[in-house]
Amino acid sequence: MSAVAYRWLMTAPQVPQVREAFEPFPPAPGEVVVEVAGCGVCHTDLGYFFDGVRTNHVLPLALGHEVSGRVVAAGAGAERWTGRQVIVPAVIPCGECDLCRRGRGAICRAQKMPGNDIQGGFASHIVVPARGLCEVDPARLAAAGLALADVSVVADAVTTPFQAVSRAGVQPGSLAVVIGAGGVGGYCVQIARAFGATVVAIDVDSAKLETISHHGAALTLDAREHDARALKGAVSAFAKERGLPATEWFVFECSGTAAGQATAWSLLVHGATLGVVGFTMDKVEVRLSNLMAFDARALGNWGCPPEQYPAALDLVLSGKVQVKPFVEAHPLADINRIFEAVHHREIGRRAVLVP
Ligand SMILES: [Zn+2]
Ligand SMILES: [Zn+2]
Repeated sequence: MSAVAYRWLMTAPQVPQVREAFEPFPPAPGEVVVEVAGCGVCHTDLGYFFDGVRTNHVLPLALGHEVSGRVVAAGAGAERWTGRQVIVPAVIPCGECDLCRRGRGAICRAQKMPGNDIQGGFASHIVVPARGLCEVDPARLAAAGLALADVSVVADAVTTPFQAVSRAGVQPGSLAVVIGAGGVGGYCVQIARAFGATVVAIDVDSAKLETISHHGAALTLDAREHDARALKGAVSAFAKERGLPATEWFVFECSGTAAGQATAWSLLVHGATLGVVGFTMDKVEVRLSNLMAFDARALGNWGCPPEQYPAALDLVLSGKVQVKPFVEAHPLADINRIFEAVHHREIGRRAVLVP
């Protein structure tokens, strides 16, 4: 525990993050110190850094809420976690309030999100509540050919679409359409497939569509080549050809763009379920009454309750959801350069920063 811990702090929007030493030891009762193996760069981080989205914690603040690592110290009551490999949930509910007791921890008003409410994971170490940690079995991890840093993306990029697909009620025989086949959508496709759906992926990047065609998408459509009407026609024709339902489609918007949201809306059919997974500050104009006319519904989910992390991790460790083709590791020391590259969409895969 003698090595100096450090984290990269955001001091103001668009000002390069700076490295700061800090003392994480000893953790308070109920908390643990996690030595970070990797922390994924999420578009939410970019929203704080580039778009001026406000963090709940005052600046300076280390961003990063997609963390895996090893527990190197535990406070009173959390001793059993010492030495274990873990995934830190992106949203850590208090576990005690009325909402938490009713299983609605995702909207707990006392929740802690690393890199938003508390110091985040772009760091050598992070201090977090032990409650909600998801244990990673090192033997299964090795058998799956994965490093601990690879599964950092389970903290958000995998579990958020997992919760969306699970809550939407996707089941064997369903038709699911995923808009955006990148860092989050690539997992959404695989998860919907694992739940038994036949999946159509839509993107504007032919390389991403090519990758996802090998990982669960039965049909890929390039949104640059079809207008909204043609996209819906192509999905309808595919459904007919495969004997899939013409109604009750599941549409998951994962691109986090206004154009993707408009496309998702245009794909609503009778009884459809729209899952809004991606985030953007942009606005779209829609005829909201389509929900009424189609007897459809639109859902959103803020992360995923920690209780569901083991099931999502199991999909990864069993190989049903492949993470390797969708992540790339970079040194944490390059954080400012990587933020720029992801912002300018020069990196299509999920960037994981490794201390
Ligand atoms: Zn995120
Ligand atoms: Zn709570």
